[in-house]
Amino acid sequence: MIEFKIADFFYLNDLARTYWLMRRAEHWTTEKFLRYQADHLLPLLVHCSQLVPYYSTLFKKSGLSPARLNRENVLDQLRRLPLLDKEVLRAAPAQFMARNAQVYRPKAITTSGTTGTPLTVFWDRGSNVMELCSMQRFWRWAGFRIGQSFLDLRSRVFTHQDRHLSTQGRAQYIRNWKINSLEFNADLIDKTSLSDYYQVLLRYQPRLLRGHPQAMQKLALLLQESGMTGWKPRVITPTSEALYDFQKAEIARVWPAPILDHYGLKEHNAFFAQCPEGGYHIFPEYGITEIVDDDGVAVKPGEEGWIVATGLHNFAQPLLRYNTRDRGVAAGDERCSCGRTLPLIRSVIGRIDDCIYTENGARYSGMHFAFFGRKGIQKARLIQEDLHTVQVELVITPEFDQQEAEALREALSRKVNHQLNFTFVYRDDINQEKPGKFKFVVSRCHLQSADRP
Ligand SMILES: [Zn+2]
Repeated sequence: MIEFKIADFFYLNDLARTYWLMRRAEHWTTEKFLRYQADHLLPLLVHCSQLVPYYSTLFKKSGLSPARLNRENVLDQLRRLPLLDKEVLRAAPAQFMARNAQVYRPKAITTSGTTGTPLTVFWDRGSNVMELCSMQRFWRWAGFRIGQSFLDLRSRVFTHQDRHLSTQGRAQYIRNWKINSLEFNADLIDKTSLSDYYQVLLRYQPRLLRGHPQAMQKLALLLQESGMTGWKPRVITPTSEALYDFQKAEIARVWPAPILDHYGLKEHNAFFAQCPEGGYHIFPEYGITEIVDDDGVAVKPGEEGWIVATGLHNFAQPLLRYNTRDRGVAAGDERCSCGRTLPLIRSVIGRIDDCIYTENGARYSGMHFAFFGRKGIQKARLIQEDLHTVQVELVITPEFDQQEAEALREALSRKVNHQLNFTFVYRDDINQEKPGKFKFVVSRCHLQSADRP
């Protein structure tokens, strides 16, 4: 999730120019988007060849000569480059830093990394401006204006280094009046502290709720069970984790507000967001997004592939054809009913870490689809210890009867082509393995398929 600090984004001219560009661009033709991307990619590739060690070497190896690049061929030339794996960046981050990086005011950001190994990336001035303007566009679609009150709800441990830390009774929270935000650590909210948190909500009445879906679901249920219904968000934007249908249904039952999803990366090279019509729009001004197969070739509309991203604005640490290791379904030239011409992605399936594996070497993502339409499931997690059985942990309500259990088992089995057995284990609660992101799928088998891209 992005940490908003006013100083990072205080480039008013750049912000205003980008803001107006992004407003106009929502109705551009495809040709105009491609021209915009070519105009930004061309100087970026020339910069990479001259000043970024990793790319100087790679371009020579790939026979990509900056002298022969022009606006007409640059998008095709980009696709000659191999996909960039996260591990290559992790192993040698300095190789990706431009020799004149300081000009772009880079700031190091360390990601927690779902594999447990942190990765440090750099945000620079250009990519920060684009990030803030993209978030602003998304919020505008959601009917939210910068300056209105919002609540960040996550599983993040506060420390004494956090500024604006406040308390009310048993509630501990961050109140940043400069951006009119509240932040709660969802792990600290329980039945004993709930009424204090509720008082804070009543006082500041946050209009927008964003955060981890798991945390939202928990707060929604706690407030509802306790009859504390005096605050409801007007719009909900889940972030950081995939939003599963069963979570969405639970949240929507308590808070009947639009739930708009968005997708971004700490690496600052792709941004997608849902409009109120539900279309998942790719922001082509932000970067070039490809959905490709294992060989790096674009998949057909309706097919699933790797989301590969080339940010167009980060000159301090450019990443070209970066394999996000997230999976998405391509939408081709489909258009959204909202009338905006921004391209679409049909769906973001989830992370490679959300896959489970079978003995015959197959990999299955999107396991949450098996939960679609099932009743009485509050929480779920799949744990795979071997290639034969998957343990399904469930927190259920009385609605989850024998019939529901059988339907779920059948749907899970069908999802993996009947290659695995599923055993159900009923829990009072499911806690994440470590603070940060909740993992819906925990597979210990993924290392056996680590040779995949
Ligand atoms: Zn739309």
